Amino acid sequence: MKRLIFIGPPGAGKGTQAARIVQRYGIPHISTGDMFRAAVTAGTPLGLEANAFMKSGRLVPDAVTIGLVRERFAQPDTANGFLLDGFPRTVPQAEALDVALSTDGVVLSAVLLLEVPDDLIVERITGRVTDPNTGRIYHRRFDPPPTDVAFRVVQRPDDTEDVVRGRLLAYHEQTAPIVPFYERLGLVRRVNGVGSTDDVTARLVKSLG
Ligand code: AMP
Repeated sequence: MKRLIFIGPPGAGKGTQAARIVQRYGIPHISTGDMFRAAVTAGTPLGLEANAFMKSGRLVPDAVTIGLVRERFAQPDTANGFLLDGFPRTVPQAEALDVALSTDGVVLSAVLLLEVPDDLIVERITGRVTDPNTGRIYHRRFDPPPTDVAFRVVQRPDDTEDVVRGRLLAYHEQTAPIVPFYERLGLVRRVNGVGSTDDVTARLVKSLG
């Protein structure tokens, strides 16, 4: 059984790779970004609160995010493993997760750190589009959607160059500091995120043994 955390800068390919990993290991994909986007679309109070932060590329406050993840972990499917994508993203989130997991006697399998240099990120993110029907992610240049899908793809509102710069800053200032936390626990597997989607998947799977 795999209990995984997936960390990496925005646009590193976490969403695409996460979809493959959860399928391979038969575990639920827990993406706080996806959960926030669903709340925004549904227009719930949580969505209204989160949207203000997401639009400008800032992180949603820890108390809100931790509450959301805690509710998700109350679902029975998480008993058989999970892949956390986009959480934890701050040291207080990592600490809260640590407390919650150790209270339940749950031990993490690995923390996957997907590494992509900043200068590649902006190019990747600003071309990124999603098929709303399937959730499949494409890139306008590197992985263009087929013509029968291209007409309906959508771009995330926070995938513009301005907002991406803010999200990268948030990553370096607030998220990167959680890496030493997991390094001390010997859990970190650094994986090069540059290359084809298949190559990166192969590296991730190999790093998990
Ligand atoms: P993502 O889809 O993971 O890139 O997340 C999109 C946006 O959702 C982020 O830029 C944040 O505004 C918000 N978000 C997602 N996960 C978290 C988190 N763990 N903590 C705070 N904000 C988050």
